[in-house]
Amino acid sequence: MIPILYIVIPCYNEQEVLPETSKRILDKLTRMVRAQICHDDSRVLFVDDGSKDQTWSMIEGLCEQDIHFAGVKLAHNRGHQNALLAGLMTAKEYCDAAISMDADLQDDIEVLDEFMERFAQGCQIVYGVRKARETDTFFKRNSALTFYRLMQMLGTQVVNNHADYRLMSKEALEALAQYREVNLFLRGIVPEIGYQTAVVYYDRGERFAGESKYPLKKMISFAIEGITSFSVKPLKLISTLGILISLCSCAGLIYALVSKICGVAVPGWTAIISSIWLLGGVQLLCLGVLGGYVGKIYQEVKARPRYIIETKKLQPGQKGQTTENV
Ligand code: UDP
Ligand code: MG
Repeated sequence: MIPILYIVIPCYNEQEVLPETSKRILDKLTRMVRAQICHDDSRVLFVDDGSKDQTWSMIEGLCEQDIHFAGVKLAHNRGHQNALLAGLMTAKEYCDAAISMDADLQDDIEVLDEFMERFAQGCQIVYGVRKARETDTFFKRNSALTFYRLMQMLGTQVVNNHADYRLMSKEALEALAQYREVNLFLRGIVPEIGYQTAVVYYDRGERFAGESKYPLKKMISFAIEGITSFSVKPLKLISTLGILISLCSCAGLIYALVSKICGVAVPGWTAIISSIWLLGGVQLLCLGVLGGYVGKIYQEVKARPRYIIETKKLQPGQKGQTTENV
């Protein structure tokens, strides 16, 4: 059976790139349909993330021109991750697999066949990973690397050099739908889903028109979102710091006492210095304990699915069915 593919593209003020993007993607999709890689019912689904320019009217125009184009308009700007989720959740109802990509065609669309190949081999999630970061500035390359390292240190699984260019099968999308969190960081959630996965390498080019919608400020807040949405380790670190400072304060206390005994301390200094250290340490330790509880509440409030069932092999007999109905 030839799979139905939905290519999901979030767009925020992308009027400069849309004409070229839609042309190139439609051409690619047509070639894929012809090669029977995907079904003719496949679609290119644009998600307008509350753009202020002509993006939505252009999408409407495209939908009228060709049946392979589809569009979803969000009521207002909700950010890349939410726009992407809206597109994926819409696609889930109609597709066998969905591939997400950016509107600026920085991701090489020629590897779409490879994504589909892996999907045909049974992979539920296929990650697009950048071969090199030559097109990036020195700052972006190194800040990205630091970010991936930090995420891994803090215990979040992320695929290095993978942005949001990925294929997800209908099953994987249904699993994703079970994650109900508001602070969305798809790169962290998707590896948590599990299933059989694969990686496809590609070259990332430059944005061919328009400006990046991810200025430094947004990038930093995205990185902080990624860390705080997945890890309570920063909270736990407070306790460690508290213990360390308490230990230091003991050493300080001994030093202050020795200074006093030797008569080299100014009167009153010993008491002040040791209480500052000790109180600081105790306060941090208490904060750490509170942090521990807050972290637990945070994880409970997220109410993430505790497991995702990949397949079910169960044929309840007569008895089983009666029990189930009871
Ligand atoms: N985008 C979006 N909503 C936003 C910001 C960005 O839907 O609030 C989309 C944007 O249209 C593009 C994708 O997210 O398709 C990635 O943005 P961009 O290419 O500007 O990011 P960069 O490649 O510079 O990191
Ligand atoms: Mg881009």
